[in-house]
Amino acid sequence: MKNLVVGAGFSGATIANLLATELNEEVEVIDSKDHIAGNCYDYKDENGITIHKYGSHIFHTNNEKVWDFISKFTDFNTYMHKVYANIDGIETTIPFNINTLYDVFPKSLASRLEEKLLAKYEYNKKVPILEFTKETDKDLKFLADYVYEKVFLHYTTKQWGVSPNDVSGAVTARVPVYISKDNRYFQDKYQGIPLEGYTKVVERMLDHKNIELVLNKPFKDYKKAYQKYKRVFYTGAIDQYFNYELGKLPYRSVNFKFETHKQEYYQQNSVVNYPCNYDFTRIHEYKYYLNEKSDKTVIAKEYSEAFETDKNERYYPIPNDKNTELYNKYLEKAKDLDNVYFLGRLGDYKYYDMDKAIARAIELFEEIK
Ligand code: UDP
Repeated sequence: MKNLVVGAGFSGATIANLLATELNEEVEVIDSKDHIAGNCYDYKDENGITIHKYGSHIFHTNNEKVWDFISKFTDFNTYMHKVYANIDGIETTIPFNINTLYDVFPKSLASRLEEKLLAKYEYNKKVPILEFTKETDKDLKFLADYVYEKVFLHYTTKQWGVSPNDVSGAVTARVPVYISKDNRYFQDKYQGIPLEGYTKVVERMLDHKNIELVLNKPFKDYKKAYQKYKRVFYTGAIDQYFNYELGKLPYRSVNFKFETHKQEYYQQNSVVNYPCNYDFTRIHEYKYYLNEKSDKTVIAKEYSEAFETDKNERYYPIPNDKNTELYNKYLEKAKDLDNVYFLGRLGDYKYYDMDKAIARAIELFEEIK
């Protein structure tokens, strides 16, 4: 009997690859989209620029197992991701760090704040903004309120539709206040962009005699027939699997407005955030990732919006207590199913980065094998 994997993103491709290679089992992989790689999908456009169709993806991990696994399918460049932000017309770096202090404040104020920060926190400490705003020292409270207002409040409201207090603290803690001069966005041991893109990585994961791939295939066509499979690995939305019978889990979606410009570069960096002004949250400029040369450049302005069935795509689960409670009810129902396993951002309703999605698939494989 074969396995069925629903979804050809990183989660599905990882589990399919492990079943095929390590257990020598047959796997049928279906995806409702007309391409593999899920929201990590990328392609080279007519200008020779690799476009991340669903927004910038930077691979980063501290997990040796995940790094060893993905490195079987690709080499990476030595890209170190930085994010710039435009705060009141000043271009500076995000996460807000000691260098940012000197970009946005007069030198005397910046150095007073730096001294106070270093007296209070260890160098290289990452402080979540919601913790930082509890500061009682007058200067540090001024700084915390400034960062909250200029970096987090409006960006988070645009991105999630609610203020930073109404999404799980883990969301804004992904981008801490960083008591450091390190301008990188990620400090992981391994990071980079796959030299031939993410789609190629997933293509290689699925390229095995035991794996059959069927695109443009919605799971509903298979639901009744699933008993004929040894196991089903479902990486789609868990609420959809159960026909929303307990209610819909909310997700955020994103709309990218692409523009091609007849100039070598549009902005200074691959990603520039607009945390306070403008309706978009950030602008991506793709040629930076693989240092591709062209006399044109392609950018995407990112607009966040609520997910609506049949209108747009699911990008982010929305972690908060209410949604977790509903997800847990679906999880209880899932436990009653024989041989159906849920995984991935949508299956687990968790805000996984790519490495976490792969790690979860590897762990699940180790449990079942
Ligand atoms: N965030 C923010 N301002 C920024 C960058 C991030 O408020 O300039 C908050 C926002 O709530 C965002 C979260 O931090 O959704 C996580 O940001 P990250 O860059 O990790 O988001 P992703 O790249 O996964 O969309």
